Amino acid sequence: MTVQTIEVKLSESKGEKPLAEELQFGRVFTDHMFIADYCEEKGWTDHRVVPYEPLTLDPAAIVFHYGQTVFEGLKAYLSKEGKIRLFRPEQNMRRMNQSCERLCMPQIDEEFALEALKQLLIVDKDWIPKAEGTSLYIRPFMIATEPYLGVAPSTKYRFMIILSPVGSYYKEGIHPVKILVENEYVRAVDGGTGTAKTAGNYAASLKAQEVADQKGYSQVLWLDGVEKKYIEEVGSMNVFFKINGEVITPELNGSILEGITRKSIIQLLKHWNIPVIERKISMEELKEAHANGALEEAFGTGTAAVISPIGEFNWQDEKFVVNEGKTGELSKQLYDTLTGIQTGTVEDPFNWGVEVN
Ligand SMILES: *Cc1c(COP(=O)(O)O)cnc(C)c1O
Repeated sequence: MTVQTIEVKLSESKGEKPLAEELQFGRVFTDHMFIADYCEEKGWTDHRVVPYEPLTLDPAAIVFHYGQTVFEGLKAYLSKEGKIRLFRPEQNMRRMNQSCERLCMPQIDEEFALEALKQLLIVDKDWIPKAEGTSLYIRPFMIATEPYLGVAPSTKYRFMIILSPVGSYYKEGIHPVKILVENEYVRAVDGGTGTAKTAGNYAASLKAQEVADQKGYSQVLWLDGVEKKYIEEVGSMNVFFKINGEVITPELNGSILEGITRKSIIQLLKHWNIPVIERKISMEELKEAHANGALEEAFGTGTAAVISPIGEFNWQDEKFVVNEGKTGELSKQLYDTLTGIQTGTVEDPFNWGVEVN
Protein backbone atom coordinates (compact mmCIF):
# COMPACT_ATOMS: atom_id res chain seq x y z
CA MET A 1 0.00 0.00 0.00
CA THR A 2 1.84 3.08 -1.11
CA VAL A 3 0.85 6.16 0.80
CA GLN A 4 -2.22 7.59 -0.78
CA THR A 5 -5.13 9.60 0.47
CA ILE A 6 -8.23 7.99 1.86
CA GLU A 7 -11.46 9.12 0.29
CA VAL A 8 -14.38 9.41 2.68
CA LYS A 9 -17.99 8.98 1.56
CA LEU A 10 -20.33 9.42 4.49
CA SER A 11 -23.49 7.44 4.94
CA GLU A 12 -26.75 9.35 4.42
CA SER A 13 -28.48 7.53 7.23
CA LYS A 14 -27.29 6.49 10.65
CA GLY A 15 -27.98 3.02 11.95
CA GLU A 16 -29.66 2.54 15.30
CA LYS A 17 -27.21 1.89 18.08
CA PRO A 18 -28.02 -1.05 20.32
CA LEU A 19 -28.54 -0.46 24.04
CA ALA A 20 -25.54 -1.37 26.19
CA GLU A 21 -27.37 -4.26 27.87
CA GLU A 22 -28.46 -5.70 24.52
CA LEU A 23 -25.00 -5.78 22.98
CA GLN A 24 -23.86 -9.19 21.79
CA PHE A 25 -20.74 -10.21 19.90
CA GLY A 26 -20.42 -9.48 16.19
CA ARG A 27 -24.07 -9.08 15.22
CA VAL A 28 -24.37 -5.35 14.64
CA PHE A 29 -22.09 -3.25 12.44
CA THR A 30 -21.36 0.46 12.31
CA ASP A 31 -22.32 2.91 9.55
CA HIS A 32 -19.00 2.78 7.66
CA MET A 33 -16.25 0.46 6.52
CA PHE A 34 -12.79 0.83 5.01
CA ILE A 35 -11.92 -0.75 1.65
CA ALA A 36 -8.78 -0.93 -0.49
CA ASP A 37 -8.32 -2.96 -3.67
CA TYR A 38 -5.28 -4.72 -5.01
CA CYS A 39 -4.28 -5.96 -8.40
CA GLU A 40 -0.88 -7.21 -9.47
CA GLU A 41 -0.24 -4.38 -11.94
CA LYS A 42 -1.14 -1.45 -9.70
CA GLY A 43 -0.70 -2.68 -6.13
CA TRP A 44 -3.11 -1.23 -3.56
CA THR A 45 -5.46 1.49 -4.82
CA ASP A 46 -8.80 3.16 -4.09
CA HIS A 47 -8.49 3.50 -0.33
CA ARG A 48 -11.86 4.58 0.91
CA VAL A 49 -14.16 4.88 3.88
CA VAL A 50 -17.66 4.21 2.58
CA PRO A 51 -21.12 3.43 3.98
CA TYR A 52 -21.40 -0.14 5.31
CA GLU A 53 -23.18 -2.27 2.73
CA PRO A 54 -23.12 -5.74 1.15
CA LEU A 55 -20.41 -6.49 -1.39
CA THR A 56 -20.84 -7.49 -4.99
CA LEU A 57 -18.39 -10.23 -5.89
CA ASP A 58 -18.03 -12.65 -8.75
CA PRO A 59 -19.36 -16.08 -7.69
CA ALA A 60 -16.09 -17.55 -8.97
CA ALA A 61 -14.00 -15.34 -6.64
CA ILE A 62 -11.20 -17.51 -5.26
CA VAL A 63 -12.10 -16.76 -1.63
CA PHE A 64 -15.39 -18.69 -1.98
CA HIS A 65 -13.78 -21.84 -3.32
CA TYR A 66 -10.33 -22.17 -1.85
CA GLY A 67 -10.50 -20.00 1.25
CA GLN A 68 -7.70 -17.62 0.41
CA THR A 69 -8.47 -15.11 3.13
CA VAL A 70 -7.03 -13.82 6.42
CA PHE A 71 -8.40 -11.73 9.27
CA GLU A 72 -7.48 -9.91 12.44
CA GLY A 73 -9.36 -8.98 15.60
CA LEU A 74 -8.78 -6.12 18.04
CA LYS A 75 -10.83 -3.67 20.07
CA ALA A 76 -11.26 0.08 20.50
CA TYR A 77 -12.31 1.49 23.86
CA LEU A 78 -13.52 4.89 24.88
CA SER A 79 -11.46 6.27 27.77
CA LYS A 80 -13.00 8.23 30.65
CA GLU A 81 -11.70 11.38 28.94
CA GLY A 82 -13.60 10.44 25.78
CA LYS A 83 -10.56 9.39 23.75
CA ILE A 84 -10.49 6.39 21.43
CA ARG A 85 -7.96 3.85 22.72
CA LEU A 86 -6.42 0.88 20.92
CA PHE A 87 -4.28 -1.89 22.41
CA ARG A 88 -1.06 -2.68 20.51
CA PRO A 89 -2.77 -2.31 17.11
CA GLU A 90 0.56 -2.35 15.26
CA GLN A 91 0.92 -5.97 16.41
CA ASN A 92 -2.31 -6.90 14.66
CA MET A 93 -1.22 -5.29 11.41
CA ARG A 94 2.09 -7.11 11.61
CA ARG A 95 0.41 -10.44 12.27
CA MET A 96 -1.97 -9.80 9.39
CA ASN A 97 1.03 -9.54 7.08
CA GLN A 98 2.45 -12.78 8.52
CA SER A 99 -0.87 -14.50 7.82
CA CYS A 100 -0.88 -13.01 4.30
CA GLU A 101 2.60 -14.35 3.69
CA ARG A 102 1.47 -17.89 4.59
CA LEU A 103 -1.58 -17.65 2.30
CA CYS A 104 0.36 -16.16 -0.67
CA MET A 105 -1.51 -12.89 -0.31
CA PRO A 106 0.00 -9.42 -0.81
CA GLN A 107 1.45 -7.43 2.08
CA ILE A 108 -0.30 -4.33 3.37
CA ASP A 109 1.51 -1.18 4.46
CA GLU A 110 1.13 -1.69 8.21
CA GLU A 111 1.38 1.99 9.10
CA PHE A 112 -1.04 3.03 6.42
CA ALA A 113 -3.52 0.34 7.44
CA LEU A 114 -3.37 1.65 11.01
CA GLU A 115 -3.93 5.17 9.72
CA ALA A 116 -6.95 3.92 7.75
CA LEU A 117 -8.30 2.24 10.89
CA LYS A 118 -7.91 5.48 12.86
CA GLN A 119 -9.78 7.45 10.20
CA LEU A 120 -12.58 4.91 10.18
CA LEU A 121 -12.78 5.01 13.99
CA ILE A 122 -13.04 8.79 13.98
CA VAL A 123 -15.91 8.63 11.47
CA ASP A 124 -17.77 6.01 13.55
CA LYS A 125 -16.67 7.20 17.00
CA ASP A 126 -20.30 7.51 18.15
CA TRP A 127 -20.55 3.74 17.87
CA ILE A 128 -18.02 2.98 20.59
CA PRO A 129 -20.15 1.87 23.53
CA LYS A 130 -19.41 3.51 26.87
CA ALA A 131 -20.63 1.04 29.49
CA GLU A 132 -18.03 -0.86 31.48
CA GLY A 133 -16.69 -3.92 29.71
CA THR A 134 -18.11 -2.92 26.32
CA SER A 135 -15.97 -2.02 23.31
CA LEU A 136 -15.91 -1.66 19.56
CA TYR A 137 -14.61 -4.85 17.97
CA ILE A 138 -12.46 -4.23 14.90
CA ARG A 139 -12.25 -6.81 12.14
CA PRO A 140 -9.65 -6.14 9.44
CA PHE A 141 -9.65 -8.84 6.75
CA MET A 142 -8.48 -9.60 3.23
CA ILE A 143 -10.17 -11.72 0.56
CA ALA A 144 -9.04 -13.09 -2.80
CA THR A 145 -11.41 -11.62 -5.39
CA GLU A 146 -10.16 -12.87 -8.74
CA PRO A 147 -12.79 -15.01 -10.53
CA TYR A 148 -10.88 -18.22 -11.27
CA LEU A 149 -11.54 -21.87 -10.45
CA GLY A 150 -7.94 -22.96 -10.84
CA VAL A 151 -6.06 -23.58 -7.61
CA ALA A 152 -3.56 -20.72 -7.60
CA PRO A 153 -3.01 -17.50 -5.67
CA SER A 154 -5.40 -14.77 -6.76
CA THR A 155 -4.06 -11.75 -8.63
CA LYS A 156 -6.74 -9.51 -7.11
CA TYR A 157 -7.59 -8.82 -3.47
CA ARG A 158 -9.73 -6.62 -1.28
CA PHE A 159 -8.65 -5.41 2.16
CA MET A 160 -11.43 -4.24 4.44
CA ILE A 161 -12.05 -3.12 8.01
CA ILE A 162 -15.46 -3.44 9.62
CA LEU A 163 -16.50 -2.46 13.16
CA SER A 164 -18.97 -4.00 15.57
CA PRO A 165 -20.01 -2.73 19.02
CA VAL A 166 -19.74 -5.61 21.48
CA GLY A 167 -21.00 -6.21 24.99
CA SER A 168 -19.06 -7.19 28.03
CA TYR A 169 -17.78 -10.74 27.74
CA TYR A 170 -18.54 -11.19 31.43
CA LYS A 171 -22.01 -9.80 32.01
CA GLU A 172 -22.23 -11.51 35.39
CA GLY A 173 -18.59 -10.99 36.31
CA ILE A 174 -15.56 -13.02 35.28
CA HIS A 175 -16.33 -16.72 35.71
CA PRO A 176 -14.54 -20.00 34.95
CA VAL A 177 -15.63 -22.29 32.10
CA LYS A 178 -15.65 -26.04 31.59
CA ILE A 179 -13.35 -27.47 28.93
CA LEU A 180 -13.54 -30.72 26.98
CA VAL A 181 -10.14 -32.08 25.96
CA GLU A 182 -10.42 -33.02 22.27
CA ASN A 183 -8.98 -36.45 21.48
CA GLU A 184 -10.23 -36.99 17.95
CA TYR A 185 -10.13 -33.79 15.91
CA VAL A 186 -7.13 -31.46 15.70
CA ARG A 187 -7.04 -27.72 15.01
CA ALA A 188 -3.71 -27.48 13.24
CA VAL A 189 -0.43 -29.28 12.61
CA ASP A 190 3.15 -28.13 12.28
CA GLY A 191 3.61 -27.04 8.67
CA GLY A 192 -0.09 -26.29 8.26
CA THR A 193 -1.83 -22.95 8.70
CA GLY A 194 -2.31 -22.91 12.48
CA THR A 195 -0.02 -19.91 12.91
CA ALA A 196 -2.10 -17.82 10.49
CA LYS A 197 -5.50 -16.26 11.19
CA THR A 198 -7.14 -17.79 8.16
CA ALA A 199 -10.75 -18.90 7.73
CA GLY A 200 -10.07 -22.59 7.14
CA ASN A 201 -8.72 -23.10 10.66
CA TYR A 202 -12.00 -21.93 12.15
CA ALA A 203 -14.15 -23.96 9.75
CA ALA A 204 -12.08 -26.99 10.73
CA SER A 205 -12.71 -26.35 14.43
CA LEU A 206 -16.51 -26.25 14.28
CA LYS A 207 -17.11 -29.98 14.50
CA ALA A 208 -15.25 -30.44 17.76
CA GLN A 209 -16.96 -27.37 19.22
CA GLU A 210 -20.34 -28.82 18.25
CA VAL A 211 -19.59 -32.03 20.16
CA ALA A 212 -18.38 -30.02 23.19
CA ASP A 213 -21.58 -27.92 23.12
CA GLN A 214 -23.72 -31.06 23.11
CA LYS A 215 -21.89 -32.38 26.15
CA GLY A 216 -22.30 -29.11 28.03
CA TYR A 217 -18.73 -27.81 27.69
CA SER A 218 -18.02 -24.30 26.54
CA GLN A 219 -14.73 -24.86 24.68
CA VAL A 220 -12.39 -27.59 23.54
CA LEU A 221 -8.78 -28.01 24.55
CA TRP A 222 -6.74 -28.74 21.42
CA LEU A 223 -3.89 -31.20 21.55
CA ASP A 224 -0.99 -31.45 19.12
CA GLY A 225 -1.88 -32.90 15.73
CA VAL A 226 0.76 -35.64 15.69
CA GLU A 227 0.74 -37.46 19.05
CA LYS A 228 -2.38 -35.84 20.58
CA LYS A 229 -0.37 -35.60 23.74
CA TYR A 230 0.73 -32.01 24.15
CA ILE A 231 -1.57 -29.09 24.89
CA GLU A 232 -1.83 -26.40 22.21
CA GLU A 233 -4.76 -23.99 22.60
CA VAL A 234 -8.22 -23.67 24.10
CA GLY A 235 -10.97 -22.86 21.60
CA SER A 236 -9.51 -19.91 19.70
CA MET A 237 -7.46 -18.75 22.64
CA ASN A 238 -3.96 -19.42 23.91
CA VAL A 239 -3.72 -21.26 27.21
CA PHE A 240 -1.77 -20.81 30.46
CA PHE A 241 -1.36 -22.94 33.59
CA LYS A 242 -0.07 -21.99 37.00
CA ILE A 243 1.66 -25.00 38.53
CA ASN A 244 3.58 -24.77 41.80
CA GLY A 245 3.87 -21.00 41.51
CA GLU A 246 5.23 -21.12 37.96
CA VAL A 247 3.24 -20.02 34.92
CA ILE A 248 3.51 -22.31 31.88
CA THR A 249 2.21 -21.76 28.36
CA PRO A 250 2.78 -24.09 25.39
CA GLU A 251 5.78 -22.96 23.35
CA LEU A 252 5.20 -21.73 19.81
CA ASN A 253 5.65 -24.85 17.75
CA GLY A 254 4.49 -24.08 14.24
CA SER A 255 0.82 -24.84 14.85
CA ILE A 256 -0.08 -22.48 17.71
CA LEU A 257 -1.38 -19.02 16.84
CA GLU A 258 0.72 -16.41 18.62
CA GLY A 259 -1.78 -14.24 20.46
CA ILE A 260 -1.06 -10.62 21.28
CA THR A 261 -2.76 -11.20 24.63
CA ARG A 262 -0.42 -14.18 25.19
CA LYS A 263 2.62 -12.08 24.36
CA SER A 264 1.43 -9.26 26.64
CA ILE A 265 0.81 -11.63 29.55
CA ILE A 266 4.30 -13.10 29.27
CA GLN A 267 5.74 -9.56 29.33
CA LEU A 268 3.58 -8.55 32.31
CA LEU A 269 4.49 -11.65 34.33
CA LYS A 270 8.19 -11.02 33.72
CA HIS A 271 7.68 -7.39 34.75
CA TRP A 272 6.08 -8.63 38.00
CA ASN A 273 8.91 -11.14 38.58
CA ILE A 274 6.49 -14.06 38.41
CA PRO A 275 8.21 -17.09 36.85
CA VAL A 276 6.82 -17.77 33.37
CA ILE A 277 8.03 -20.35 30.89
CA GLU A 278 7.12 -21.33 27.33
CA ARG A 279 7.53 -25.06 26.92
CA LYS A 280 5.78 -28.26 25.91
CA ILE A 281 3.19 -29.45 28.39
CA SER A 282 1.33 -32.73 28.05
CA MET A 283 -2.13 -33.73 29.29
CA GLU A 284 -0.39 -36.42 31.35
CA GLU A 285 1.67 -33.76 33.13
CA LEU A 286 -1.40 -31.62 33.72
CA LYS A 287 -3.27 -34.59 35.17
CA GLU A 288 -0.38 -35.34 37.49
CA ALA A 289 -0.09 -31.72 38.61
CA HIS A 290 -3.79 -31.78 39.39
CA ALA A 291 -3.49 -35.05 41.32
CA ASN A 292 -0.61 -33.61 43.38
CA GLY A 293 -2.51 -30.43 44.15
CA ALA A 294 0.09 -28.42 42.22
CA LEU A 295 -2.27 -27.12 39.51
CA GLU A 296 -3.28 -23.75 40.92
CA GLU A 297 -4.87 -21.97 37.96
CA ALA A 298 -5.66 -22.42 34.28
CA PHE A 299 -6.89 -19.80 31.83
CA GLY A 300 -7.36 -19.01 28.16
CA THR A 301 -6.22 -15.69 26.67
CA GLY A 302 -7.42 -13.72 23.64
CA THR A 303 -8.81 -10.39 22.52
CA ALA A 304 -12.49 -11.28 23.00
CA ALA A 305 -12.41 -12.45 26.65
CA VAL A 306 -8.91 -11.15 27.55
CA ILE A 307 -8.68 -13.83 30.30
CA SER A 308 -11.02 -16.81 30.45
CA PRO A 309 -10.46 -18.84 33.64
CA ILE A 310 -10.84 -22.61 33.32
CA GLY A 311 -12.73 -24.29 36.17
CA GLU A 312 -12.83 -27.87 34.94
CA PHE A 313 -11.23 -30.19 32.37
CA ASN A 314 -12.75 -33.38 31.04
CA TRP A 315 -10.11 -35.68 29.58
CA GLN A 316 -11.32 -39.06 28.34
CA ASP A 317 -14.31 -38.87 30.69
CA GLU A 318 -12.16 -38.12 33.68
CA LYS A 319 -12.96 -34.74 35.20
CA PHE A 320 -10.62 -32.51 37.07
CA VAL A 321 -11.60 -29.33 38.79
CA VAL A 322 -9.16 -26.41 39.04
CA ASN A 323 -9.08 -24.05 42.05
CA GLU A 324 -12.48 -25.37 43.23
CA GLY A 325 -13.98 -24.05 40.00
CA LYS A 326 -13.27 -20.47 41.04
CA THR A 327 -11.36 -17.66 39.32
CA GLY A 328 -7.74 -17.71 40.46
CA GLU A 329 -5.97 -14.72 41.99
CA LEU A 330 -3.44 -14.38 39.17
CA SER A 331 -6.16 -14.73 36.50
CA LYS A 332 -8.06 -11.88 38.13
CA GLN A 333 -4.96 -9.73 38.52
CA LEU A 334 -4.05 -10.22 34.85
CA TYR A 335 -7.61 -9.49 33.75
CA ASP A 336 -7.81 -6.28 35.80
CA THR A 337 -4.41 -5.07 34.65
CA LEU A 338 -4.91 -5.78 30.95
CA THR A 339 -8.43 -4.35 30.79
CA GLY A 340 -7.22 -1.36 32.84
CA ILE A 341 -4.41 -0.69 30.35
CA GLN A 342 -6.83 -1.13 27.47
CA THR A 343 -9.30 1.42 28.82
CA GLY A 344 -6.60 3.72 30.19
CA THR A 345 -7.41 3.44 33.90
CA VAL A 346 -4.20 1.76 35.09
CA GLU A 347 -0.52 2.52 34.49
CA ASP A 348 0.72 1.32 31.11
CA PRO A 349 4.39 0.41 31.76
CA PHE A 350 5.02 -0.73 28.20
CA ASN A 351 3.10 2.02 26.39
CA TRP A 352 0.79 -0.52 24.80
CA GLY A 353 -2.16 1.87 24.61
CA VAL A 354 -2.52 4.01 21.48
CA GLU A 355 -4.82 7.02 21.59
CA VAL A 356 -6.43 7.91 18.31
CA ASN A 357 -7.61 11.49 18.81
C1 LIG B 1 -6.83 -14.82 17.55
C2 LIG B 1 -6.44 -16.09 18.17
C3 LIG B 1 -5.82 -16.17 19.42
C4 LIG B 1 -5.63 -15.00 20.34
O1 LIG B 1 -4.95 -13.94 19.77
P1 LIG B 1 -5.05 -12.49 20.42
O2 LIG B 1 -4.14 -11.67 19.58
O3 LIG B 1 -4.61 -12.59 21.82
O4 LIG B 1 -6.49 -12.08 20.30
C5 LIG B 1 -5.39 -17.42 19.87
N1 LIG B 1 -5.61 -18.53 19.16
C6 LIG B 1 -6.24 -18.49 17.98
C7 LIG B 1 -6.44 -19.75 17.23
C8 LIG B 1 -6.69 -17.28 17.44
O5 LIG B 1 -7.34 -17.24 16.29
